[in-house]
Amino acid sequence: MSRVLIIGAGGVASVTIKKCARLTEFFDEIYLASRTLSKCEALQKDVGNDRVKAVFSVDADNADEVEALIVQVQPNLVINLALPYQDLPIMDACLATKTDYLDTANYEPKDVAKFEYSWQWAYQERFQEAGIMALLGSGFDPGVTNVYTAYAAKHYFDEILYLDIVDCNGGDHGQAFATNFNPEINIREITQRGRYFENGEWKETDPLSVREDLDYQNIGVRASYLMFHEELESLVKHFPTLKRARFWMTFGDAYLNHLKVLEGIGMTSIEPVEFQGQQIVPLEFLKAVLPNPGSLADGYTGKTCIGTYITGIKDGKEKTIFIYNNCDHAACFEEVGAQAVSYTTGVPAMIGAALMLNKTWHKAGVWNMEQFDPDPFMNMLNEHGLPWHVIECEESPFTK
Ligand code: NDP
Repeated sequence: MSRVLIIGAGGVASVTIKKCARLTEFFDEIYLASRTLSKCEALQKDVGNDRVKAVFSVDADNADEVEALIVQVQPNLVINLALPYQDLPIMDACLATKTDYLDTANYEPKDVAKFEYSWQWAYQERFQEAGIMALLGSGFDPGVTNVYTAYAAKHYFDEILYLDIVDCNGGDHGQAFATNFNPEINIREITQRGRYFENGEWKETDPLSVREDLDYQNIGVRASYLMFHEELESLVKHFPTLKRARFWMTFGDAYLNHLKVLEGIGMTSIEPVEFQGQQIVPLEFLKAVLPNPGSLADGYTGKTCIGTYITGIKDGKEKTIFIYNNCDHAACFEEVGAQAVSYTTGVPAMIGAALMLNKTWHKAGVWNMEQFDPDPFMNMLNEHGLPWHVIECEESPFTK
């Protein structure tokens, strides 16, 4: 019998739990815990008591609290859909209880905007010794984009050389300024310096200073900006033939103008300031006043297009392919009451969990998505709402 404990009850968790609830062959019992009990209760009501057996309040910054909860629930797997700050305490609790672990975003310390896998990779030996597994980054990007790369390397190339991951949200939620997942985490990511890998070294750029206008399938041309994204770090490690790896995300002018103003007045800062006798972090305050990403779903129109351009060598010849998915905001709302960014993250979390539970993807240690056979994951994407397509490109769409 399989029993999962989901931690976090936000936009992504609401999709994962609904998808898991339908898959009785993989998920016998589901338990849900988060900081705010009322959000767990609302989700339980939405999904049904027969599938979500019980809900709990937990502070996942506190490893002892998570450990006590795991001892009480006795899950086979903890699915961490809280925030990146909670990754390490939850991994500590999994180690103490010898329980498998999955997340969708790499650990970040709250007081430094530093995005790297070093903290979680440092658990490799301890997870191996305990005989348990951690699957890191089982969302879309990271997650599906890692699996796309592994799939291309397995089926299309003898050697992969150039990688460009592109993330386009061609949707319209009608708000002046809003983020599609947790605003604090999203703005930390976007305002960091750009970084990409080329010829064995990491190169830095000013934030959002490198732009390409790319034509996205079923969306059209969108301004796309070079950023650092965590999957670049694991992909260049696991595919050492890569000469260059970059990540691009689309932003509209209105979004960038709002961001510029907010940055200019210090509202995106993570340095605490004193306000009426209290220390507050401006970005945490900004999060509190921005729309909850889940609330954008009703009336959201348009599609996302997230994919991976890969150039490599096959039978002595260089070629480029693009593997991608289009996801429609309104269709996601109709299916699970969520927008496409929550959906494209929540579904891969469910798939990663299913493959761990049935041992298709299972080995002791701490692993990134591209370290497993991509085929079963790719099949499940087609079956569970995120179908993918492969295009053979005549030439690379990038000018730089
Ligand atoms: P939300 O802010 O909507 O949800 C986060 C949830 O975590 C909330 O229920 C929140 O509780 C809970 N939480 C926060 N702190 C704690 C804590 N200390 N203890 C227990 N629960 C806590 O975020 P999203 O659903 O948008 O994102 C979830 C995760 O998915 C994030 O880590 C994000 O980075 C990742 N992500 C990954 C993507 C990918 O493609 N790989 C894409 C998009 C997101 P409360 O309601 O009380 O605040």
